[in-house]
Amino acid sequence: MTDSKVNHFNKSLELLQQYIKEKGLRYTSERKIILEEIYNSDQHIDVEHIYQSVNKKISISKATIYNNIELFEQCGIIRKNNFLGKSNIYERNIGNQNHGHFVCKSCQKIIEFCDIRVYLIQKSIEKSLNCQIENSDFLFQGICQECSQKD
Ligand SMILES: [Zn+2]
Ligand SMILES: [Zn+2]
Repeated sequence: MTDSKVNHFNKSLELLQQYIKEKGLRYTSERKIILEEIYNSDQHIDVEHIYQSVNKKISISKATIYNNIELFEQCGIIRKNNFLGKSNIYERNIGNQNHGHFVCKSCQKIIEFCDIRVYLIQKSIEKSLNCQIENSDFLFQGICQECSQKD
């Protein structure tokens, strides 16, 4: 992991430990290993992928993976995406907020984009609705450059 990635991972671990304590749950080393897998990945990964990678390190059931992922999501340290009907695709959330996604309907490629206007839209909605936005989901679908050149 790069330095900033390590920082984000440590921050997420800190938040998780705090959250677990509040909920009266136990902190286990498997929670750390699962979270590390998600923070280590540069991509958007599904449960199957997480399950396979974690099982290379420790033996763990899919149910345990599901339970932990749900916990991470409630804690706000990971983000769940639903791309093109494929639900439950996850990514790290600390140090990774305020980006949107473009998904190609043809090759299913996911492209991330960062645009300051995403942040500005949020700020303006917070003001007009007098609310506090915690998560946003900017998803655009279409045909990517490569696919549009194929035909
Ligand atoms: Zn494409
Ligand atoms: Zn993303």
